[in-house]
Amino acid sequence: MADRIVIITGGSKGLGAGLVRSYLESGDRVATCARSTTPEVEAWSSDPASADRFLFVEADLAVRDEAAAFVQAVVTKWGGVDILVNNAGVARDGILAVFADEDVDTVVDLNMKATFQVTKLVSRRMLSKGAGKIINISSIVGLSGYRGLSVYAATKGALDAFTRSLARELGSRGITVNSVAPGYLRTEMSHGLDEGQMQQIIRRTPAGRLGEPGDVARAVQFLTSDDNDFITGQVLVVDGGLTS
Ligand code: NAP
Repeated sequence: MADRIVIITGGSKGLGAGLVRSYLESGDRVATCARSTTPEVEAWSSDPASADRFLFVEADLAVRDEAAAFVQAVVTKWGGVDILVNNAGVARDGILAVFADEDVDTVVDLNMKATFQVTKLVSRRMLSKGAGKIINISSIVGLSGYRGLSVYAATKGALDAFTRSLARELGSRGITVNSVAPGYLRTEMSHGLDEGQMQQIIRRTPAGRLGEPGDVARAVQFLTSDDNDFITGQVLVVDGGLTS
């Protein structure tokens, strides 16, 4: 069993919850945050099998001080961070010509600015240790585009660009940085798609189904395993072949 210190942002539901579950199952200590708690978070906090290896902090990562307080809480509790998974993200859909300015801010503030802020604070800790693994959860829409998701897609493409530059900055210091770009997953975020769009995506996907959080978690575990110190600056697409 591993005993790494893992931060997963936005782990209260959806993909983030799948990532928290996966790292708890591999024996790691896991810290996560969200703006509010969920039954899954309550269960991990009270289950004797995970309670002393799990930390939940209520924080809005779009607020810089709250993001900083979250990272500090992890460092105070466990002394460092081995793995960071920047998972928290938000989508707003609508064609750009009538897109609300507040929605631009919401998407950019969380998907980009909060990711930069958390990564900045965590990478300092990793640099002083000379080791670390960072994963940015981007999306296939950042690679191929999707009508009505231009702002969201732009933030996800930005994360892939962030990954490539940061990998160059940190590579000689024992830190890998990769993106994992999921296809369409069965989570709350994809509930905005109607049944017709869902069926069309499934028809076009060689694997014949939507993705599950576990599909992505296995890719993230692979890239953050001790065995990987040579794959860095890459975007690993996990989409059942949809964009192949
Ligand atoms: P989700 O079900 O909406 O979950 C998002 C998580 O982030 C929740 O824990 C949420 O908790 C948290 N969060 C949202 N705003 C936050 C904030 N301001 N501060 C702190 N935490 C916040 O989304 P998901 O589908 O699991 O998506 C997870 C990641 O995968 C995102 O980066 C998304 O872009 C990416 N992705 C998803 C899909 C898909 O089909 N679902 C496809 C490709 C990529 P609270 O709301 O309580 O804060």
